[in-house]
Amino acid sequence: MKNVKAFGKNSVIWWLVALVVTLSAISFYNYDVQKKLLLKQMQSDSKDIVSSITAAIKRFQDIKSTMNLQKLVNDMSLDLDIFEFRYLEPDGVISNSMFQDEIGKVHMGKSFKKTMQGDLPFGEFFFEVRDYVPVMAIYYPIRNKNEIVGIVDLAVEVPEEVLENKGTESEVISHRKVDITNLLKAIEGSIKNSISIFRNTNIEDFLNKYVSSAENILQITVIDKSGEVVVSSNKEIIGKHFDIKKLQKKQIVELEGRPVYRMLTDGSVFGGDKSKQLILLIDAAPYKKNEHRLLQTALVTSIIALLIALFIARAIYRSAIRQSKEEKERLERLVKERTHEIELLSKTDGLTGLWNRRYLEEMLDIEFKRAKRYNHNVSIAVVDLDHFKHINDNYGHMAGDEVLRQVSNHIRSCIRETDFVGRYGGEEIVVILPETDIKTAHLIAEKIRETIEAHPVYFNGDTIKVTSSIGISNLRPEHKDYHEVFAEADEALYRAKESGRNRVVVFKKEEKEEESGPFDD
Ligand code: GH3
Ligand code: MG
Ligand code: MG
Repeated sequence: MKNVKAFGKNSVIWWLVALVVTLSAISFYNYDVQKKLLLKQMQSDSKDIVSSITAAIKRFQDIKSTMNLQKLVNDMSLDLDIFEFRYLEPDGVISNSMFQDEIGKVHMGKSFKKTMQGDLPFGEFFFEVRDYVPVMAIYYPIRNKNEIVGIVDLAVEVPEEVLENKGTESEVISHRKVDITNLLKAIEGSIKNSISIFRNTNIEDFLNKYVSSAENILQITVIDKSGEVVVSSNKEIIGKHFDIKKLQKKQIVELEGRPVYRMLTDGSVFGGDKSKQLILLIDAAPYKKNEHRLLQTALVTSIIALLIALFIARAIYRSAIRQSKEEKERLERLVKERTHEIELLSKTDGLTGLWNRRYLEEMLDIEFKRAKRYNHNVSIAVVDLDHFKHINDNYGHMAGDEVLRQVSNHIRSCIRETDFVGRYGGEEIVVILPETDIKTAHLIAEKIRETIEAHPVYFNGDTIKVTSSIGISNLRPEHKDYHEVFAEADEALYRAKESGRNRVVVFKKEEKEEESGPFDD
């Protein structure tokens, strides 16, 4: 039973532990999911920002170069019959053309290809026929720090007769060459100017405006491979030079004492160099705040779960303690009761419910010793039923038992609570009368005798007449112990029997017992 209960308590504790762990796990899982969602949101926001910046810059760049160059060519070619004008990326993509629908396509010109393959050096004039028109053409490279950043494809119409007589018209040709070269120089200047405007002023301005108009963007910066800042909206977080490695491991980093979300993308739009890197820095403080709040919620949930579990555990523990205390008390009570019952059983006679002989003798010893010591009265009466054998013989042993029971009750009804009645053996009953002198003892014995006689026993339709003989004696100074008094009472009983039964005899020394009975008068 104890084991079953203990197991029950343990399993409850395990359930509580499981509850706390599960709730904590759920709340922390939720925290993690929400955190990732927040991060994803920021990531996609940043992507949008980057693509909007990139698109804006590209458009800005396109418009700028298209407008300037086209206007320039128109303005400066007054006396030149321009057949074709294109501005190409180094890889042949047309970014500017007098024929708008060409823009974005790759220029497949035969001579251009040859030029790219190295047959014909850049910047050399050549003659060819384009769309049946004889032209004087040039692929003119625009260089920035020795690097080709673009190519101007310019074709100027040449009158056929001039072309046929190149030798004679050489003056015309060389004059055109000078004009075309001047135009090219102007175009080059304009392009370079545009490039430098983009690289130094306008883009930074643009980025700066973009950053200050957006709420959470801290900085937009382009750096090259060596970490040199190429373009930057401002220099508040990333200065002139920056080690990109600082940003490569984590999406959210601590820069200048504040949480910053970074987005790294290809920065090729800024000057066309793909090795450049665009860094977008976004204020991650709101994200951190939300994350902190989520973490707090998860922690609070876990703590609440833990507290509830502790509360339940405490309640279970308390009730278990109370139960075991109650159980202990119940058992103690039971043991006491049983012990008392056993004690009583060991002292009582099973048939009559009177004290048994062993206890009777114990009490005789105690009562007589006490009375002797304090010089108090104590008397003893020995009751024996008359002709009990006859009762057994005539009415049966069961009837005899019933007589014994009823007689015992009658005797009990005649005495005080402080007196003791015990079955000494057979149908012999002894009454101890403490604080009772012999005269009073005589009265009590007489009362017993009368009561027994007055109550015949009805058993199985028979009326059984019962009488008794009683011998009494009391403690006197000459007595050593109760045995001597008992022997005197027994002797008096013998006298009672001898003198006709159904009477009380008080022990008298030298055979001078005093008798009382129904025939006294
Ligand atoms: P007397 O008047 O001389 O006392 O005659 P008596 O027949 O009573 O003689 P005695 O006291 O010697 O006999 C006691 C008888 O009581 C003997 C026995 O059969 C009977 N007896 C003893 N104990 C019990 C008992 O527990 N139940 C019953 N039914 N009879 C018992
Ligand atoms: Mg008898
Ligand atoms: Mg007897």
